[in-house]
Formats: sequence, C-alpha cells, structure tokens
Amino acid sequence: MGTIVTIEVVGTAPGGEGARDAAIGRALEWFRRVESTCNRFDPDSELRRLSARVGQAVPASPLLFEAVRFALAVAEETDGAFDPTVGAALESRGFNRDYRTLQPAGPFVESAAAKTATFRDVRVDEARKTLTLLKPLVLDLGAVAKGLAIDLAAQELQSFRNFAIDAGGDLYLGGNNARGEPWSIGIRHPRQPGEMIETVDVSDGAVCTSGDYERPAARAEDGHHIIDLRTGGAAVDAASVTVLAPSAMVADGLATAAFVLGPKAGIELLERHGADGIIITPALERFSTQSMTDHE
Ligand code: ADP
Ligand code: MG
Repeated sequence: MGTIVTIEVVGTAPGGEGARDAAIGRALEWFRRVESTCNRFDPDSELRRLSARVGQAVPASPLLFEAVRFALAVAEETDGAFDPTVGAALESRGFNRDYRTLQPAGPFVESAAAKTATFRDVRVDEARKTLTLLKPLVLDLGAVAKGLAIDLAAQELQSFRNFAIDAGGDLYLGGNNARGEPWSIGIRHPRQPGEMIETVDVSDGAVCTSGDYERPAARAEDGHHIIDLRTGGAAVDAASVTVLAPSAMVADGLATAAFVLGPKAGIELLERHGADGIIITPALERFSTQSMTDHE
C-alpha cells in the first residue's frame, strides 16, 4: 500500500510475548492479503484480473467483494463524487506504476471508454457474490483498502484491549495508551510539514486522514491523488479531512469522499453517517462535525 505499518500492544499481553507476536504477525498478514487482492498496480491481483474481464460475472473473494461493495455504496451516497472507477483518471496522471509517481510510465492518456465509465457500470450480485464490469474501466480501491486492512488487523488484536495500529497516518486505536488514557492523535498541518494542527482523543475507534499533500501527480498541473471526476481535476475544496469512526474502512472511505465533496457537503456526509470529522480547507479554515466543535 506504499506505506509503513506500525503495531503497538500496550502492557503485558495475556499469553505472553509469543501470543502477542503471533497476533501481530496475523494482523500484518491482513495488510499483505488486502494488498495482493486490491492492488491496482499488480497485473496478477484479483482486482486487475476482474478489470480484464469486461461483461462477465466474475466470482469475487470476500475481501474484494466487501471492498467493492462498500466503495460502490459510498459512490451512490455521494452521487459519484466518490467513485472507485477513478483508476483510469489516476493512471493518466502518472499513478500507473506505484502509489507514488516516482517513475511513472507514460504516455499519460486516458482511454475514451474508461473516461465515460462510472460506478454505475459495476454490477454487484449479492447472492452469487459476483462482480460485473459493464464497460472497460479501471477500478481503484485506494480510498478504502487500507481501512479494510486496518479493521481486519484490529480484529486479530482485540484480545489485547490496548493497542494501536498505524498505517501511514490512518489508525485504529484499541482501548487506552500506556498511561491508561485514550490515545491522543495528532492531525498533521496540511501546509506545514512536521507540524500538528490539532489533536483528537480516541479509544476503540479509527482515525483516517486524506490530505492533498500526500501524493502529488506526475505533472504539477495535475495536482494530487484525490480526483473530482465531476470536474476531471484534482479535488480542490479541502486540504485535509480527518474522520473518526468505529470502523477504519468507513473512516477511510468517508475521508476521501468528504475531501471531494468539500467542507459543507463533506461535513453533512459525516453527520449523516454518525462519524466525527474535521475538514481543513486550503485557506486553513476549519470545519467540523457538531461533536468536534469544542476544541481550543
Ligand atoms: P491515502 O491515505 O493513501 O493517501 P486516501 O484515503 O486519502 O489515501 O484516498 C486517496 C486514494 O483514493 C487515491 O490514491 C485513489 O486511489 C483514490 N481516489 C482518488 N480520487 C477518488 C475518488 N474521487 N473516488 C474514489 N477514490 C478516489
Ligand atoms: Mg480514504
């Protein structure tokens, strides 16, 4: 996922170090499994094999099925502001070899077919657990896959009560920290690298942030990695969105969706889903859900 995963278990674990290390190993294994299933850059991933079979009902693994179904639900909910068929648009901006654009493989052109495709061109058969692409398109689960992996990893660690999973700034916090207090999580300042803009306290929940500073496109004029397909450009109404929710997949997906929607509609989306969140605009204005207004 182009990120470093850190897991911390607080205190002495029941079952001792052996049990703890085995659970951490299983937790990390979920990142590998979600990655090998949902990776858009690996021609052998299940996601890419699905993308190659246009017009066929393709049986999907539970992991891929869940990730796609959730992404399509967020797309529906945001009327396509969030859209997991954003893959072709990402490829045309140089996100075609890796999560970053370090060595993009040009030329950056988007296929005409993929340009017209939307999430409505993906069919989900709940009973048969199949997915069907009605048009040539490139699915991208970058907005939700990390959250899904974090949730699965967290399940492996639940018996330890107090733990933290950090996947490149997207987190799940179990219980309390070593001082017996809720985890205190710093939100990065979107314009001042290395600085925090505020902190939030979390216990038994996820915190995910989408920022425009994270992954720049290959060409400066293309902006960054979160795209508003309604304008065809990078989403510009937010600089960073932080979402708190019981599930990391929900927090991750809603953060990306709220980023595209911008502060007003973004906060409304979070409120509708009972999630907490903070949106910082490029002008460094702060918008938040009702629950997060009483910060200093
Ligand atoms: P990260 O934490 O990896 O920076 P985010 O959760 O902020 O990721 O989501 C950004 C990712 O979401 C992009 O890298 C891309 O894979 C995907 N994406 C970009 N634009 C959209 C969009 N409009 N709808 C759905 N997914 C998107
Ligand atoms: Mg996201």
